[in-house]
Amino acid sequence: MAQSYLLTKSKYIHGLQCDRALWLDVFNPKLARYSAEQMRRFDHGREFEHSFKDTFPNGIDISAELKRNTEAYPTLTAQLLDKDEETDLFEAGFLYNEVLVLADVVHRRLDGSLDVYEVKSGSTLSDTYRRDAAIQNYVISHCHPIHSFNIVHNTPTEKTDSSESSDYPDKRFTIINLTEELQAQHSEIENNIALMKEILCHGEPATPTGQHCLTPYACPYQHYCAQGIRQLSLF
Ligand code: SF4
Repeated sequence: MAQSYLLTKSKYIHGLQCDRALWLDVFNPKLARYSAEQMRRFDHGREFEHSFKDTFPNGIDISAELKRNTEAYPTLTAQLLDKDEETDLFEAGFLYNEVLVLADVVHRRLDGSLDVYEVKSGSTLSDTYRRDAAIQNYVISHCHPIHSFNIVHNTPTEKTDSSESSDYPDKRFTIINLTEELQAQHSEIENNIALMKEILCHGEPATPTGQHCLTPYACPYQHYCAQGIRQLSLF
């Protein structure tokens, strides 16, 4: 069966940074190399995410059921949300405009609308977190009514005892509702997706390396693109 999606959240985010990184993510992802420090940060992020999920003791983990069969996530998610009851889902899948996103935590309210939580282990609300949330919100809101879209981040240690740190009962987590801000970005995201689809209709872009290889993320294809530069210099 042909794959029903072309982009994912991470591919879209890479695409915002560099057209070549997007192309490699889709057609040659095995070239990606992550440093030990990046892997350590991924592990830390997963630990923090699990600690937030633990505050939803009845949550159903779709990834535990479907593992790497990401094609099936949106169908199972829709089935689980199509019940007249409150439900908590982990890694709920949504597909729209050939973009697949998996939401860390989704709470289905009794009226059928969703509270979505995107969990980030940093201690401030960064622009990169906002960009992640924007593409998630764009896809999910075209599949299901959203009541609130929230970023969950780590409460800085000096604030964990402070009543101002968060409304959430567990003060380790600061919850920021970005619903209105994200809704206003839909047309910009739609344009970005159209551009990315166009890039993927052609061969590998010859984008040269530069400052963009390091920000906002250290690109995992730097060794590969640097080889190209070395070959050019030898020639
Ligand atoms: S190393 Fe730089 S040029 Fe190469 S894919 Fe990554 S961001 Fe693009």
